[in-house]
Amino acid sequence: MNSFLSGLESSGWLRHIKSILDTSQFIAEAIVEGTNVVVHCSDGWDRTAQVCSLASLLLDPFYRTISGYQTLIEKDWLAFGHKFSERCGHIQTDSKEISPIFTQLLDSTWQLMQQFPLSFQFNETFLFTIHDHVHSCQFGTFIGNCEKDRTDLKLSETTYSLWGYMANHLNEYLNPLYGPEEPPEVLVPNLIPQNIRFWRGMYCRFESGVHPREPQEDVLLQQTDYIFSLDEHMKYLSKRISSVKSLISRTVRKNDKKKSKPKKEQLCNNVFLDNKLEYEKGSSKETNEAASTGSSLKVGEEAEEDEDGDDDGVEEEDGESVDVEEIKRGIDSVALDWKLLRNATECSCSLTLDQLSKKSNCRRCGDVFCQRCITKRIALPGHVSQIPVPVCKLCFDILANSVELYEYYHRICAQNIQHLTTQHRNESETSSTIDLLMKGSFLVTFSHVLVGIA
Ligand SMILES: [Zn+2]
Ligand SMILES: [Zn+2]
Repeated sequence: MNSFLSGLESSGWLRHIKSILDTSQFIAEAIVEGTNVVVHCSDGWDRTAQVCSLASLLLDPFYRTISGYQTLIEKDWLAFGHKFSERCGHIQTDSKEISPIFTQLLDSTWQLMQQFPLSFQFNETFLFTIHDHVHSCQFGTFIGNCEKDRTDLKLSETTYSLWGYMANHLNEYLNPLYGPEEPPEVLVPNLIPQNIRFWRGMYCRFESGVHPREPQEDVLLQQTDYIFSLDEHMKYLSKRISSVKSLISRTVRKNDKKKSKPKKEQLCNNVFLDNKLEYEKGSSKETNEAASTGSSLKVGEEAEEDEDGDDDGVEEEDGESVDVEEIKRGIDSVALDWKLLRNATECSCSLTLDQLSKKSNCRRCGDVFCQRCITKRIALPGHVSQIPVPVCKLCFDILANSVELYEYYHRICAQNIQHLTTQHRNESETSSTIDLLMKGSFLVTFSHVLVGIA
C-alpha cells in the first residue's frame, strides 16, 4: 500500500491532471464571460492541444458525443500536428520525446465523466479503444507526426482508419446513462484535489490476483441492449397478434355472411379469446413458452385454416399478411434469455473470458462471445424496426441463409397449396396441406443443421 501511494505521489500524475483541468476551466470560464483567449505553450502541439480540446469539451455538448470527440481529436490533435509518432515512441527516437500527453487528455476526459456521468455519450471502453490504438499502430489514423507525414506516407490508401472500425462497434461505446434530451450547455467541474481520482480502469486493467470486478457500465450496457431487443420483439409480436386478430374477425364476418355454422363460429371465437388472453397478460413466461413450443398462434392459425377448408387466403388481409412460418421464424430469431456476462468463462473460439475481456451477447442465441466472434450484424426477423444487431457467426450464417431457403421453400409450398386447393376441396386434403407445411418447416430446420455443420 505504501509503495503504491508513494509511487503515485512521486509520479506527480494526479497533479498534472489537475493543472491541465484547471487551465481548461480557466479558458472555458473566460470564453463564457465573453473574453477572447489566445493559448500558446512553447511549441503549441502538446499542452495547447490538451487545454483547448478540454475547454471545448466543457463548452460544447457536441464534443461530448462519440462523433464530436472524434472530431475534436481530428481537429486539435491530428490536424494541429501533435507528434504522435514521437510522443508514443512508434519509431526509435530520442527517448526524451516520449511522453503520455495524449493519455493525459483521455485521463482528464475520464475525470470529467466521473463528475458528469449523464453528459457524455461514450463510456470508458471508448477511451480505452482510442488509447490502445494510438499505440498499436494497427490503423493509420495516428501514424506520423503531422498531416504532411500522413500524406507523404499515403496512409489513406495503404491503411484503415480507426474511426471506421469504431463505427462498426458503436454499441460497445455507448454510455447507457447519457441523456441527450437536456445536455447542460457548459460543464463546470469541481476541481478540488480530492475530486481528482486515480483511473483504476485504465492503469490497473491487467492487474491479476485481486478481487475480480464487474464493471458497472458493462452490466448497464448489457441490460440496455437486452431491453431494446425485448422491446423490439414485443412490438413485433403485438403487430402479429393484431394481424391474426383481424384475420380471425374477418373469417368470423365471412362465416356470418355465409350460412352460419354455429360450431365453426364458436371455435373461431374461442381462438380469438385464447390468443387475447394469452398475449395480453404480457408476462415474459408466456412469451417464453410461445417461443419454445412454437407458439399458440400457430395452433390457432392451423385450426383456423383447417376450419376454412377451401381457404388458401391465410396470406392477405387489408394488405397485411399473416404467415405462420414467418411468425415462427420471427419468434425463433430473438433470444429471450441472455446469459450473464459474469458467468461466461470461455468463448466458443476457446478464448478464456475473464473480468478484463470485453464480451457481448448474441441477439439470436443469447450466448456470450468475445469481441472477435461477434462482429457480424444482421436484422432479426423478430425485431420490428429491422435495425441490424450483433449476432455470432453461426447465427449470422443461419439467418443469412434462411432468407434464401425460406423464399425457396415458400415458393414450393405456395405452388403445392395452389395445386391442392384447385384440385381437391375436401377437409382431408387440407390436412395434407398442413402436413406439407410441416414438412417444409422440417426442410428449413434440416437446412439449418446442414448450414451449421458447414
Ligand atoms: Zn448466436
Ligand atoms: Zn471468441
